[in-house]
Amino acid sequence: MPTAVHQLDDGAWISVNDTREVTVSDLWRLDTDDFCPCRLVDFLSEGFVEVGIDGARVEARVAGQCIRCGARGVTDWLTLGRVDPDTDTFYPVAPDAVRHSGCASHDSG
Ligand SMILES: [Zn+2]
Repeated sequence: MPTAVHQLDDGAWISVNDTREVTVSDLWRLDTDDFCPCRLVDFLSEGFVEVGIDGARVEARVAGQCIRCGARGVTDWLTLGRVDPDTDTFYPVAPDAVRHSGCASHDSG
């Protein structure tokens, strides 16, 4: 069965296979040049804007704020975790992991 990924509660939660797995209001560290000038973004997540699944990878675009410089906006697609195709178990990215965003194929440098 394909993995079902949905937003709940106006983007406050993401469910994977009807189980609430990821919520906002966490501080995430993003390694991206696109969101704001900070080299490493201390990102306060406020709401999921879009969710999707790419193979086994659960991804989302997230609205929020960089608490270093105050920039607000919506991130590029971020990986939130992955689903084991054999068991349909969701394994979230570690909360303190640095999350990379953006499509690597767009950037050869
Ligand atoms: Zn910033």
